[in-house]
Amino acid sequence: MPRSTIAHIDLDALRTNYRTACERAGSARVMAVVKADGYGHGIARIASALADVAPKYAVACIEEAFAIRAAGHTQPVVLLQGVHAADDLADCVESQFEPVLHGVHQLKWMEQGSHLPDFWLKINTGMNRLGFWPDDLPAVMARLEKMNAFARLQGFVSHFACADDADSTMTSAQTATFETATSPWPSLMKSVGNSAAHFIPGQPLFDWSRPGIMLYGGSPIAGKTGPELGLEPVMTLEAPLITTRTVRAGESVGYGAAWVAERDTRMGMVAIGYGDGYPRHAGTDTPAAINGRRIRLIGRVSMDMLAVDLSNAPEAREGDLVELWGRTVGVDEVASCAGTISYELLTGITSRVPRICR
Ligand SMILES: *Cc1c(COP(=O)(O)O)cnc(C)c1O
Repeated sequence: MPRSTIAHIDLDALRTNYRTACERAGSARVMAVVKADGYGHGIARIASALADVAPKYAVACIEEAFAIRAAGHTQPVVLLQGVHAADDLADCVESQFEPVLHGVHQLKWMEQGSHLPDFWLKINTGMNRLGFWPDDLPAVMARLEKMNAFARLQGFVSHFACADDADSTMTSAQTATFETATSPWPSLMKSVGNSAAHFIPGQPLFDWSRPGIMLYGGSPIAGKTGPELGLEPVMTLEAPLITTRTVRAGESVGYGAAWVAERDTRMGMVAIGYGDGYPRHAGTDTPAAINGRRIRLIGRVSMDMLAVDLSNAPEAREGDLVELWGRTVGVDEVASCAGTISYELLTGITSRVPRICR
């Protein structure tokens, strides 16, 4: 019998969240961002579950695009990081991958090679990770025209630095920079919106939005949970209680004796730890749930197990399943207890944990 530590994947919730993204995107079309193994949910099953509704996918690298093809799906796949080598351009043409052109080295590969896929041009509007400065755009466009690449150029992309923060003025500044920079080429498409941008009132999403985390039910907005934004959790992470005992007042639990019982406390050990991707930084008081009732972690998370306080769940027995996150305890709550974001928790679940579709 395999261990019943499982990440259940609710594909109906995924499709509901995709519909929510489409509603929020208005007239923009919605490419489904499925990088990092579908944010840890399994890229093949995520791509398959969205295949009849998503007109395009977006991934970070070409291996992920090939994984979508291996799953049998033929929609164009945007490579958000573009190609990593000149040779990849031929694969892009053959497989209908649309790389993002973000640097001069990639421009040279296009000039020197004979393979020109459909592609996107990235503009750096202030994120300062990738892309051409608006000032450099006329020269880049002239080079593209010279190599007859205009027909392949789909449009312009940029990425927001602070869309998760409703009080930041940076998103509107980046949007204005983007609109000004692209205005000489009004017939080309535009794409800016990550998940957070779907929740900013009045934010233009142009021709294509690019939601990732919201499809999986995680919150893109600081200080709000996915359910508070109308999103449904897609992953429910569960693990069995493998022992229960009462620790006496004054006794400690786990490594570093980091938690000491103030009173006699019924506790349990759960078969999941940081070796499964559960965050080690989730300390005492991080919520979990058993039989629909909220409980809390106590002490340090170990590699293969963690301890919970069962004071709130006197009926809990060995074999009962503990929800680490899902519908009762939101992944965003656990993330904030661990000092991180749901993106890191979802993408961090290791291959030891089977993903099973509900
Ligand atoms: C990852 C990514 C997205 C999706 O971001 P979310 O915050 O998960 O919605 C969109 N665009 C680019 C360029 C990305 O790298």
